[in-house]
Amino acid sequence: MATSVAPRMFKNFINGEWVESHSGRAYENRNPVDAAKEAYKKWRLVPAPKRAEIMFRAAELLLQRKEDFSKDMTREMGKVLPETRGDVQEAIDMTYYMAGEGRRLFGQTTPSELPNKFAMSVRQSIGVCGLITPWNFPMAIPSWKIMPALISGNTVVIKPAQDTPLSVYNLVQVLTEAGVPRGVVNLVSGSGSTVGSAITGNRDVPVVSFTGSTGVGRVISQACAPEFKHCSLEMGGKNIIIVMDDANLDLAVDGAVWGGFGTTGQRCTAASRVAVHKSVYKDFVDRFVERVKALKVGNGLDASTDMGPCINESQLKTVMSYVEIGKNEGAKLIAGGNRLDDGAHAKGWFHEPTVFGDCSPNMRVAQEEIFGPVVSVIPINSLEQAIDVANGVAYGLSASIYTRNVNRAFQATRDLYTGIVYVNAPTIGAETHLPFGGTKQTGNGHREAAIAAIDFFTEWKTIYIDYSDKLQRAQIDNN
Ligand code: NDP
Repeated sequence: MATSVAPRMFKNFINGEWVESHSGRAYENRNPVDAAKEAYKKWRLVPAPKRAEIMFRAAELLLQRKEDFSKDMTREMGKVLPETRGDVQEAIDMTYYMAGEGRRLFGQTTPSELPNKFAMSVRQSIGVCGLITPWNFPMAIPSWKIMPALISGNTVVIKPAQDTPLSVYNLVQVLTEAGVPRGVVNLVSGSGSTVGSAITGNRDVPVVSFTGSTGVGRVISQACAPEFKHCSLEMGGKNIIIVMDDANLDLAVDGAVWGGFGTTGQRCTAASRVAVHKSVYKDFVDRFVERVKALKVGNGLDASTDMGPCINESQLKTVMSYVEIGKNEGAKLIAGGNRLDDGAHAKGWFHEPTVFGDCSPNMRVAQEEIFGPVVSVIPINSLEQAIDVANGVAYGLSASIYTRNVNRAFQATRDLYTGIVYVNAPTIGAETHLPFGGTKQTGNGHREAAIAAIDFFTEWKTIYIDYSDKLQRAQIDNN
């Protein structure tokens, strides 16, 4: 963390009460899954528009407390205040949006093959949902999971990242004040290996939604497999910005700066690669490096700060090790490259915004997720080559192209194999009413936000009602 704050103890929130954690006894005596399972019996029967009323109240409370929650988040994990405001705003947007879904949750009706028979399909809630979240969007990501789960009639047990319990605490507090009944939302803090695996291994948890690294996602996927749990995984990224020879370079440079160094590069959508057409390469790199060198690194609460610290020592060390890897594999260090630990930086995990130039696409710095302020610039000759480079990594979350040629823009949106594509904007950001997620080792086929989230947190039930009062043959023939 960047700033020193008075230590706060965080309890678990189980069945409507804040109880001590870590004793082991408290966890066993107040099993959050039991509470959620019991509460589910009633919550699933609350009409969805009534569930939505509670959620609307929660959205209002979040809006009222936005500034306080944003400051809490900056103190908790270091990103600058305009970004934590954006994080809380995403939670507000998601809460309003999912409240709206409470009056929709549409199913289908369709003509039956037989006379005097009615056919429809309806969405059903599933049960207790285990939610496991990372530290980089400590309120937005939990809200992307909690709100669609609740509006669909499920109950939840959430385990936030150990580095960021406060923002989820604030979110749960607001839901409770808004009127969510006891046991419907439960929060258990603790490590992934103990609390996280206790959730994924629990037979009473049929749904697991995880956002985090690809390595942990694989472990969770395996933990869910024996019981065939519904499992949504949103994982790592190695996102790219493509800058074509006809790009508006002012826009492209600005996009590369904020896409690469916003949230200290600790975004799943961070633009950690920039592929630049050779005919504008020098111009782009000169301007990019000048902007990067001018970024002010410091305390996220200071209005003049552009980039905060890394989340913790371990993340900082990862960044430093990748700087060495880049140098050793022949990438050209053209900005940054060092830890900052003097003066105002002495008390935090600060690192200079760092740029490697003349990278080849196969270098480790251009292939692996670093999750820190390091950008690799790769020269390219054509759109086709850029798309090959873009798709030539294990991940597939977000990609962007800067061009003023409509044909190229459409070709790129078609051929970039990622869950999200931007044209003339950086790789970062999300609107809550559009699906969010990635391909390949970024995701396992589900999407968050929008109706996609409702799809994950509900199951279809198809209902046939025969009111003919006689045996209809086709019914037998068709099973
Ligand atoms: P981690 O995968 O390390 O942790 C994510 C969560 O999983 C934490 O709550 C962690 O607990 C928990 N966890 C760890 N091990 C287990 C386990 N064995 N069983 C159950 N839970 C476990 O990711 P980070 O928190 O470091 O977040 C960074 C990663 O998240 C990056 O790879 C980033 O790309 C990805 N991410 C993906 C997004 C997407 O939408 N695709 C969005 C945001 C981030 P603990 O508290 O112990 O760490």
